[in-house]
Amino acid sequence: MNPLAQLPSVDRLLSHASVTPLIQLHGRKLITRVVRETLAAVREATQTGSPLPDETLLIQKVGAGATALSMPKLRPVFNLTGTVLHTNLGRSPLPEEAIEALITAARSPCALEYDIETGGRGDRDDIVSELFCELTGAEAATVVNNNAAAVFLLLNTLAQRKEVIVSRGELIEIGGAFRVPDIMQRAGAKLVEVGTTNRTHRKDFAEAITARTAMLMTVHASNYAIQGFTAVVPESELAALAHEHGLPFVVDLGSGTLTDLERWGLPHEPTPQEAIAAGADLVSFSGDKLLGGPQAGLLVGRKDLIAKLKKNPLKRALRVGKLTLAALEAVLRLYRDPDRLAERLTALQQLIRPKAEIRAAAARLLPALQQALARLPVDVAITALNSQIGSGSLPVDRLPSAGFAIRPQGKKSGVLNRIEAALRGLPRPIIGRIEDGALLLDLRCLSPHEEAAFSANLTKLSC
Ligand SMILES: *Cc1c(COP(=O)(O)O)cnc(C)c1O
Repeated sequence: MNPLAQLPSVDRLLSHASVTPLIQLHGRKLITRVVRETLAAVREATQTGSPLPDETLLIQKVGAGATALSMPKLRPVFNLTGTVLHTNLGRSPLPEEAIEALITAARSPCALEYDIETGGRGDRDDIVSELFCELTGAEAATVVNNNAAAVFLLLNTLAQRKEVIVSRGELIEIGGAFRVPDIMQRAGAKLVEVGTTNRTHRKDFAEAITARTAMLMTVHASNYAIQGFTAVVPESELAALAHEHGLPFVVDLGSGTLTDLERWGLPHEPTPQEAIAAGADLVSFSGDKLLGGPQAGLLVGRKDLIAKLKKNPLKRALRVGKLTLAALEAVLRLYRDPDRLAERLTALQQLIRPKAEIRAAAARLLPALQQALARLPVDVAITALNSQIGSGSLPVDRLPSAGFAIRPQGKKSGVLNRIEAALRGLPRPIIGRIEDGALLLDLRCLSPHEEAAFSANLTKLSC
Protein backbone atom coordinates (compact mmCIF):
# COMPACT_ATOMS: atom_id res chain seq x y z
CA MET A 1 0.00 0.00 0.00
CA ASN A 2 1.17 3.52 -0.80
CA PRO A 3 2.30 5.03 2.55
CA LEU A 4 1.41 8.50 1.25
CA ALA A 5 -2.26 7.51 1.40
CA GLN A 6 -1.94 7.87 5.18
CA LEU A 7 -1.01 11.57 4.93
CA PRO A 8 -3.87 13.75 6.19
CA SER A 9 -5.55 16.06 3.69
CA VAL A 10 -5.10 19.83 3.66
CA ASP A 11 -8.66 20.25 4.96
CA ARG A 12 -8.18 17.76 7.76
CA LEU A 13 -5.05 19.56 8.98
CA LEU A 14 -6.71 22.99 8.71
CA SER A 15 -9.58 21.88 10.91
CA HIS A 16 -7.30 20.20 13.48
CA ALA A 17 -7.71 21.66 16.99
CA SER A 18 -3.97 22.40 17.24
CA VAL A 19 -3.97 24.34 13.96
CA THR A 20 -6.79 26.70 15.00
CA PRO A 21 -4.50 28.88 17.16
CA LEU A 22 -2.03 29.07 14.28
CA ILE A 23 -4.81 30.34 12.02
CA GLN A 24 -5.77 32.92 14.63
CA LEU A 25 -2.19 34.09 14.87
CA HIS A 26 -1.14 34.11 11.21
CA GLY A 27 -4.40 34.11 9.22
CA ARG A 28 -6.07 31.32 7.24
CA LYS A 29 -4.47 32.26 3.95
CA LEU A 30 -0.90 31.94 5.21
CA ILE A 31 -1.56 28.71 7.15
CA THR A 32 -3.25 27.11 4.12
CA ARG A 33 -0.18 27.91 2.07
CA VAL A 34 2.18 26.49 4.73
CA VAL A 35 0.07 23.31 5.11
CA ARG A 36 0.21 22.73 1.34
CA GLU A 37 3.95 23.38 1.21
CA THR A 38 4.60 21.15 4.24
CA LEU A 39 2.61 18.26 2.74
CA ALA A 40 4.39 18.64 -0.60
CA ALA A 41 7.78 18.60 1.14
CA VAL A 42 6.82 15.48 3.11
CA ARG A 43 5.65 13.70 -0.06
CA GLU A 44 8.93 14.45 -1.76
CA ALA A 45 11.00 13.39 1.27
CA THR A 46 9.05 10.12 1.50
CA GLN A 47 9.96 9.29 -2.08
CA THR A 48 13.65 9.35 -1.14
CA GLY A 49 13.03 7.01 1.78
CA SER A 50 12.27 9.35 4.72
CA PRO A 51 9.74 7.96 7.18
CA LEU A 52 6.25 9.45 7.15
CA PRO A 53 5.82 11.97 10.02
CA ASP A 54 2.83 11.55 12.33
CA GLU A 55 0.19 14.25 12.65
CA THR A 56 1.77 15.90 15.70
CA LEU A 57 5.08 16.28 13.88
CA LEU A 58 3.31 17.57 10.77
CA ILE A 59 1.58 20.26 12.79
CA GLN A 60 4.89 21.19 14.41
CA LYS A 61 6.38 21.63 10.95
CA VAL A 62 3.44 23.85 9.96
CA GLY A 63 3.96 25.99 13.08
CA ALA A 64 7.68 26.34 12.40
CA GLY A 65 7.02 27.19 8.74
CA ALA A 66 4.49 29.86 9.67
CA THR A 67 6.83 31.39 12.25
CA ALA A 68 9.64 31.54 9.72
CA LEU A 69 7.39 33.23 7.14
CA SER A 70 6.11 35.77 9.65
CA MET A 71 9.54 36.86 10.81
CA PRO A 72 10.41 40.36 9.54
CA LYS A 73 13.18 40.37 6.96
CA LEU A 74 14.59 43.58 8.36
CA ARG A 75 15.39 42.13 11.76
CA PRO A 76 17.44 43.80 14.47
CA VAL A 77 20.82 42.19 15.06
CA PHE A 78 23.62 42.61 17.58
CA ASN A 79 26.48 44.32 15.78
CA LEU A 80 29.56 42.77 17.38
CA THR A 81 31.67 43.12 14.24
CA GLY A 82 33.75 45.90 15.73
CA THR A 83 32.75 48.22 12.88
CA VAL A 84 30.54 50.93 14.31
CA LEU A 85 29.14 52.48 11.12
CA HIS A 86 28.64 49.14 9.35
CA THR A 87 27.07 49.76 5.94
CA ASN A 88 25.61 46.24 5.70
CA LEU A 89 24.08 46.58 9.16
CA GLY A 90 22.44 49.94 8.51
CA ARG A 91 25.25 52.33 9.46
CA SER A 92 24.54 54.84 12.21
CA PRO A 93 22.08 54.11 15.01
CA LEU A 94 19.75 57.07 15.60
CA PRO A 95 19.59 59.05 18.83
CA GLU A 96 16.38 58.85 20.87
CA GLU A 97 15.43 62.41 19.86
CA ALA A 98 15.49 61.40 16.20
CA ILE A 99 13.56 58.18 16.84
CA GLU A 100 10.81 60.12 18.57
CA ALA A 101 10.64 62.70 15.79
CA LEU A 102 10.46 59.91 13.24
CA ILE A 103 7.60 58.16 15.03
CA THR A 104 5.64 61.39 15.36
CA ALA A 105 6.11 62.17 11.68
CA ALA A 106 5.10 58.64 10.75
CA ARG A 107 1.89 58.81 12.76
CA SER A 108 0.53 62.23 11.84
CA PRO A 109 0.25 64.50 8.86
CA CYS A 110 2.97 67.14 9.13
CA ALA A 111 3.95 70.40 7.47
CA LEU A 112 6.36 68.77 5.04
CA GLU A 113 5.86 71.16 2.13
CA TYR A 114 3.40 73.52 3.69
CA ASP A 115 4.06 77.02 5.00
CA ILE A 116 2.04 77.19 8.20
CA GLU A 117 2.30 80.99 8.42
CA THR A 118 0.95 81.79 4.97
CA GLY A 119 -0.99 78.61 4.27
CA GLY A 120 0.88 78.38 0.99
CA ARG A 121 3.14 75.75 -0.46
CA GLY A 122 6.44 75.24 1.31
CA ASP A 123 9.76 73.64 0.46
CA ARG A 124 10.77 70.44 2.24
CA ASP A 125 14.43 71.50 2.32
CA ASP A 126 13.42 74.43 4.55
CA ILE A 127 12.92 71.97 7.42
CA VAL A 128 16.68 71.59 7.76
CA SER A 129 18.39 74.19 5.57
CA GLU A 130 18.55 76.93 8.22
CA LEU A 131 20.10 74.50 10.69
CA PHE A 132 22.67 73.42 8.11
CA CYS A 133 23.57 77.04 7.36
CA GLU A 134 23.88 77.83 11.06
CA LEU A 135 26.08 74.79 11.72
CA THR A 136 28.31 74.92 8.62
CA GLY A 137 28.49 78.58 7.70
CA ALA A 138 27.08 77.82 4.25
CA GLU A 139 24.58 80.10 2.47
CA ALA A 140 22.16 77.34 1.48
CA ALA A 141 21.55 73.61 1.73
CA THR A 142 19.55 70.82 0.13
CA VAL A 143 18.94 67.15 0.94
CA VAL A 144 18.75 64.05 -1.26
CA ASN A 145 18.58 60.30 -0.70
CA ASN A 146 22.28 59.62 -0.02
CA ASN A 147 25.68 61.07 -0.74
CA ALA A 148 26.02 59.12 -3.99
CA ALA A 149 22.83 60.87 -5.14
CA ALA A 150 24.23 64.21 -3.96
CA VAL A 151 27.39 63.77 -6.04
CA PHE A 152 25.35 62.58 -9.01
CA LEU A 153 22.99 65.57 -8.78
CA LEU A 154 25.76 68.12 -8.53
CA LEU A 155 27.70 66.66 -11.46
CA ASN A 156 24.61 66.34 -13.63
CA THR A 157 23.52 69.88 -12.84
CA LEU A 158 26.81 71.71 -13.10
CA ALA A 159 29.01 69.57 -15.34
CA GLN A 160 26.88 67.84 -17.99
CA ARG A 161 28.83 67.70 -21.28
CA LYS A 162 31.68 69.47 -19.53
CA GLU A 163 34.88 68.47 -17.80
CA VAL A 164 35.54 67.89 -14.12
CA ILE A 165 39.15 67.93 -12.94
CA VAL A 166 39.98 65.44 -10.19
CA SER A 167 43.29 64.23 -8.77
CA ARG A 168 44.22 60.70 -9.80
CA GLY A 169 44.73 59.82 -6.13
CA GLU A 170 41.04 60.38 -5.44
CA LEU A 171 39.36 58.21 -8.08
CA ILE A 172 37.97 55.99 -5.42
CA GLU A 173 35.51 53.15 -5.12
CA ILE A 174 33.26 52.96 -2.10
CA GLY A 175 31.55 49.68 -1.26
CA GLY A 176 31.72 48.40 -4.82
CA ALA A 177 28.78 50.30 -6.28
CA PHE A 178 30.03 53.87 -5.98
CA ARG A 179 32.98 54.59 -8.21
CA VAL A 180 33.80 58.19 -8.89
CA PRO A 181 34.53 57.61 -12.63
CA ASP A 182 31.25 55.69 -13.12
CA ILE A 183 29.14 58.31 -11.37
CA MET A 184 30.79 60.99 -13.49
CA GLN A 185 30.00 59.14 -16.69
CA ARG A 186 26.37 58.47 -15.72
CA ALA A 187 25.96 62.10 -14.75
CA GLY A 188 27.13 63.08 -18.22
CA ALA A 189 30.36 64.70 -17.07
CA LYS A 190 33.80 64.06 -18.50
CA LEU A 191 36.44 63.16 -15.97
CA VAL A 192 39.84 64.77 -16.38
CA GLU A 193 42.38 63.01 -14.16
CA VAL A 194 45.43 64.95 -13.12
CA GLY A 195 48.60 64.19 -11.18
CA THR A 196 49.65 60.73 -10.06
CA THR A 197 48.28 58.30 -7.51
CA ASN A 198 50.50 59.58 -4.70
CA ARG A 199 51.29 63.17 -5.73
CA THR A 200 49.23 65.92 -7.31
CA HIS A 201 50.30 69.56 -7.52
CA ARG A 202 48.60 72.89 -8.12
CA LYS A 203 50.10 73.14 -11.59
CA ASP A 204 48.56 69.76 -12.57
CA PHE A 205 45.15 71.30 -12.01
CA ALA A 206 46.09 74.67 -13.53
CA GLU A 207 47.34 73.09 -16.76
CA ALA A 208 44.18 71.01 -17.17
CA ILE A 209 41.76 73.95 -17.06
CA THR A 210 40.20 74.65 -20.48
CA ALA A 211 37.09 76.35 -21.84
CA ARG A 212 35.23 73.06 -21.27
CA THR A 213 36.05 72.83 -17.57
CA ALA A 214 32.96 72.90 -15.33
CA MET A 215 34.59 72.61 -11.92
CA LEU A 216 37.53 71.48 -9.84
CA MET A 217 36.62 68.69 -7.46
CA THR A 218 38.17 66.85 -4.57
CA VAL A 219 36.90 63.56 -3.21
CA HIS A 220 37.83 62.79 0.37
CA ALA A 221 39.86 59.56 0.28
CA SER A 222 37.69 58.09 2.94
CA ASN A 223 38.22 54.35 2.88
CA TYR A 224 41.97 54.20 2.38
CA ALA A 225 45.07 56.27 3.03
CA ILE A 226 47.95 57.12 0.77
CA GLN A 227 51.06 57.35 2.90
CA GLY A 228 54.73 58.03 2.35
CA PHE A 229 55.91 60.24 -0.52
CA THR A 230 52.67 62.10 -1.09
CA ALA A 231 51.45 65.54 -2.05
CA VAL A 232 47.93 66.93 -2.19
CA VAL A 233 46.94 70.48 -3.00
CA PRO A 234 45.37 72.24 0.01
CA GLU A 235 41.68 72.98 -0.47
CA SER A 236 42.24 76.73 -0.08
CA GLU A 237 44.70 76.70 -3.01
CA LEU A 238 42.34 74.71 -5.22
CA ALA A 239 39.50 77.04 -4.34
CA ALA A 240 41.62 80.08 -5.21
CA LEU A 241 42.68 78.50 -8.50
CA ALA A 242 39.09 77.64 -9.41
CA HIS A 243 37.90 81.13 -8.55
CA GLU A 244 40.67 82.74 -10.65
CA HIS A 245 39.05 80.97 -13.59
CA GLY A 246 35.48 81.71 -12.53
CA LEU A 247 34.87 78.01 -11.74
CA PRO A 248 33.25 76.39 -8.70
CA PHE A 249 35.34 74.27 -6.37
CA VAL A 250 33.39 71.24 -5.15
CA VAL A 251 34.23 68.87 -2.28
CA ASP A 252 32.80 65.37 -1.79
CA LEU A 253 33.58 64.94 1.90
CA GLY A 254 32.14 61.45 2.21
CA SER A 255 31.57 61.19 5.90
CA GLY A 256 31.62 64.70 7.22
CA THR A 257 30.84 65.44 10.79
CA LEU A 258 29.68 68.84 12.00
CA THR A 259 31.89 68.94 15.04
CA ASP A 260 35.52 68.59 16.00
CA LEU A 261 36.00 64.92 16.89
CA GLU A 262 39.44 65.55 18.41
CA ARG A 263 37.64 66.98 21.40
CA TRP A 264 36.73 63.37 22.32
CA GLY A 265 40.12 61.91 21.46
CA LEU A 266 39.08 60.72 17.99
CA PRO A 267 41.26 61.46 14.97
CA HIS A 268 40.50 64.59 13.02
CA GLU A 269 37.91 64.21 10.27
CA PRO A 270 37.41 67.11 7.85
CA THR A 271 34.18 69.05 8.36
CA PRO A 272 31.96 70.91 5.90
CA GLN A 273 32.61 74.11 7.84
CA GLU A 274 36.36 73.75 7.19
CA ALA A 275 35.73 73.12 3.49
CA ILE A 276 33.43 76.17 3.27
CA ALA A 277 35.96 78.29 5.14
CA ALA A 278 38.68 77.11 2.72
CA GLY A 279 36.57 78.43 -0.16
CA ALA A 280 34.56 75.41 -1.32
CA ASP A 281 31.47 76.44 -3.27
CA LEU A 282 29.64 73.18 -2.71
CA VAL A 283 30.22 70.37 -0.20
CA SER A 284 28.47 66.99 -0.15
CA PHE A 285 28.40 64.42 2.67
CA SER A 286 26.37 61.53 4.10
CA GLY A 287 23.69 61.68 6.78
CA ASP A 288 24.32 58.22 8.24
CA LYS A 289 28.08 58.15 8.58
CA LEU A 290 29.82 60.24 11.26
CA LEU A 291 26.94 62.70 11.37
CA GLY A 292 25.00 59.98 13.18
CA GLY A 293 21.68 60.53 11.44
CA PRO A 294 19.43 58.83 8.88
CA GLN A 295 20.51 57.87 5.37
CA ALA A 296 20.66 61.09 3.39
CA GLY A 297 22.90 63.05 1.03
CA LEU A 298 23.57 66.58 2.20
CA LEU A 299 24.66 69.44 -0.01
CA VAL A 300 25.70 72.78 1.46
CA GLY A 301 27.26 75.80 -0.20
CA ARG A 302 26.65 78.80 -2.42
CA LYS A 303 23.06 79.92 -2.74
CA ASP A 304 23.08 80.25 -6.54
CA LEU A 305 24.53 76.74 -6.98
CA ILE A 306 22.10 75.13 -4.52
CA ALA A 307 19.26 76.90 -6.40
CA LYS A 308 20.47 75.31 -9.65
CA LEU A 309 20.55 71.86 -8.05
CA LYS A 310 16.99 72.31 -6.82
CA LYS A 311 15.78 73.21 -10.31
CA ASN A 312 17.13 70.00 -11.82
CA PRO A 313 14.19 67.56 -12.30
CA LEU A 314 16.47 64.84 -10.89
CA LYS A 315 16.22 66.53 -7.50
CA ARG A 316 12.57 65.47 -7.47
CA ALA A 317 13.59 61.89 -8.20
CA LEU A 318 16.25 61.88 -5.49
CA ARG A 319 14.36 63.69 -2.74
CA VAL A 320 13.92 62.32 0.77
CA GLY A 321 10.68 61.61 2.63
CA LYS A 322 9.26 63.05 5.81
CA LEU A 323 10.71 60.30 8.03
CA THR A 324 14.23 61.13 6.92
CA LEU A 325 13.70 64.86 7.39
CA ALA A 326 12.16 64.38 10.83
CA ALA A 327 15.15 62.35 12.01
CA LEU A 328 17.67 64.63 10.34
CA GLU A 329 16.20 67.77 11.89
CA ALA A 330 16.34 66.20 15.36
CA VAL A 331 19.97 65.14 14.87
CA LEU A 332 21.01 68.59 13.65
CA ARG A 333 19.43 70.21 16.70
CA LEU A 334 21.72 68.08 18.90
CA TYR A 335 24.74 69.63 17.18
CA ARG A 336 23.64 73.05 18.46
CA ASP A 337 24.87 71.99 21.89
CA PRO A 338 28.25 70.30 21.36
CA ASP A 339 28.78 70.07 25.14
CA ARG A 340 25.99 67.49 25.42
CA LEU A 341 26.52 65.81 22.07
CA ALA A 342 28.46 62.87 23.51
CA GLU A 343 25.60 61.93 25.84
CA ARG A 344 22.89 62.28 23.22
CA LEU A 345 24.25 61.25 19.82
CA THR A 346 24.23 57.45 19.89
CA ALA A 347 26.83 56.98 17.15
CA LEU A 348 29.28 59.30 18.90
CA GLN A 349 28.59 57.59 22.21
CA GLN A 350 29.56 54.25 20.67
CA LEU A 351 32.64 55.69 18.98
CA ILE A 352 34.08 57.21 22.15
CA ARG A 353 33.06 54.45 24.55
CA PRO A 354 36.10 53.81 26.78
CA LYS A 355 37.85 50.46 26.56
CA ALA A 356 37.58 49.94 30.34
CA GLU A 357 33.80 50.22 30.16
CA ILE A 358 33.62 47.74 27.27
CA ARG A 359 35.89 45.33 29.16
CA ALA A 360 33.61 45.57 32.20
CA ALA A 361 30.66 44.63 29.98
CA ALA A 362 32.66 41.63 28.74
CA ALA A 363 33.24 40.52 32.33
CA ARG A 364 29.49 40.73 33.05
CA LEU A 365 28.58 38.73 29.96
CA LEU A 366 31.32 36.11 29.98
CA PRO A 367 29.40 33.55 32.12
CA ALA A 368 26.42 33.63 29.74
CA LEU A 369 28.62 33.02 26.72
CA GLN A 370 30.64 30.30 28.46
CA GLN A 371 27.46 28.54 29.42
CA ALA A 372 26.05 28.73 25.90
CA LEU A 373 29.24 27.19 24.49
CA ALA A 374 29.95 24.81 27.39
CA ARG A 375 29.58 21.59 25.40
CA LEU A 376 31.74 22.67 22.48
CA PRO A 377 35.50 22.13 22.06
CA VAL A 378 36.35 25.84 22.32
CA ASP A 379 37.97 28.26 24.78
CA VAL A 380 36.26 31.56 25.47
CA ALA A 381 38.31 34.49 26.76
CA ILE A 382 37.99 38.20 27.23
CA THR A 383 40.39 39.93 24.88
CA ALA A 384 41.58 43.36 23.79
CA LEU A 385 40.31 44.29 20.34
CA ASN A 386 40.44 47.21 17.95
CA SER A 387 37.17 48.53 16.60
CA GLN A 388 36.94 50.67 13.54
CA ILE A 389 34.68 53.57 12.72
CA GLY A 390 33.56 52.13 9.39
CA SER A 391 31.76 53.57 6.35
CA GLY A 392 35.07 54.72 5.04
CA SER A 393 35.73 57.17 7.83
CA LEU A 394 39.21 57.56 9.18
CA PRO A 395 40.46 54.32 7.63
CA VAL A 396 43.78 54.09 9.40
CA ASP A 397 42.97 54.75 13.01
CA ARG A 398 41.60 52.08 15.30
CA LEU A 399 39.59 52.40 18.49
CA PRO A 400 40.88 50.37 21.46
CA SER A 401 38.07 48.03 22.47
CA ALA A 402 37.36 44.71 24.17
CA GLY A 403 35.25 41.62 23.71
CA PHE A 404 35.43 37.86 23.40
CA ALA A 405 37.76 35.60 21.48
CA ILE A 406 36.41 32.09 20.85
CA ARG A 407 39.22 29.69 19.88
CA PRO A 408 38.96 26.02 18.92
CA GLN A 409 40.66 23.51 21.22
CA GLY A 410 43.14 21.63 19.08
CA LYS A 411 42.92 22.01 15.33
CA LYS A 412 39.16 21.81 14.88
CA SER A 413 38.66 25.16 13.16
CA GLY A 414 35.37 23.97 11.63
CA VAL A 415 33.71 24.49 14.99
CA LEU A 416 34.17 28.27 14.68
CA ASN A 417 32.17 28.38 11.47
CA ARG A 418 29.45 26.35 13.15
CA ILE A 419 29.28 28.74 16.11
CA GLU A 420 29.40 31.76 13.83
CA ALA A 421 26.43 30.37 11.88
CA ALA A 422 24.54 29.45 15.07
CA LEU A 423 25.00 32.99 16.42
CA ARG A 424 23.61 34.33 13.15
CA GLY A 425 20.69 31.94 13.49
CA LEU A 426 19.55 33.26 16.88
CA PRO A 427 16.17 35.05 17.24
CA ARG A 428 18.19 38.24 17.30
CA PRO A 429 21.26 37.36 15.26
CA ILE A 430 24.68 38.06 16.76
CA ILE A 431 27.15 39.14 14.10
CA GLY A 432 30.85 38.75 14.89
CA ARG A 433 33.92 38.20 12.77
CA ILE A 434 36.40 35.36 12.26
CA GLU A 435 39.99 36.57 12.22
CA ASP A 436 43.33 34.83 12.75
CA GLY A 437 41.73 31.52 13.77
CA ALA A 438 39.37 33.05 16.34
CA LEU A 439 35.75 34.11 16.36
CA LEU A 440 35.81 37.66 17.75
CA LEU A 441 32.85 39.44 19.35
CA ASP A 442 33.55 43.14 19.90
CA LEU A 443 31.22 44.56 22.55
CA ARG A 444 31.64 48.26 21.72
CA CYS A 445 28.21 48.54 20.07
CA LEU A 446 26.27 46.51 22.62
CA SER A 447 24.57 49.15 24.73
CA PRO A 448 24.36 48.43 28.50
CA HIS A 449 20.55 48.33 28.41
CA GLU A 450 20.68 45.52 25.83
CA GLU A 451 22.91 43.24 27.90
CA ALA A 452 20.01 41.34 29.46
CA ALA A 453 18.45 40.71 26.05
CA PHE A 454 21.84 39.61 24.78
CA SER A 455 22.24 37.00 27.54
CA ALA A 456 18.66 35.78 27.15
CA ASN A 457 19.27 35.42 23.42
CA LEU A 458 22.38 33.31 24.09
CA THR A 459 20.38 30.73 26.04
CA LYS A 460 18.66 29.82 22.75
CA LEU A 461 21.93 28.96 21.03
CA SER A 462 22.04 25.48 19.54
CA CYS A 463 25.02 24.08 17.68
C1 LIG B 1 30.43 57.07 1.54
C2 LIG B 1 30.88 57.98 0.47
C3 LIG B 1 30.06 58.25 -0.63
C4 LIG B 1 28.70 57.60 -0.78
O1 LIG B 1 27.85 58.06 0.21
P1 LIG B 1 26.44 57.29 0.48
O2 LIG B 1 25.79 58.15 1.51
O3 LIG B 1 26.81 55.93 0.96
O4 LIG B 1 25.72 57.27 -0.81
C5 LIG B 1 30.51 59.12 -1.60
N1 LIG B 1 31.73 59.69 -1.51
C6 LIG B 1 32.57 59.45 -0.47
C7 LIG B 1 33.90 60.11 -0.45
C8 LIG B 1 32.17 58.59 0.54
O5 LIG B 1 32.98 58.34 1.57
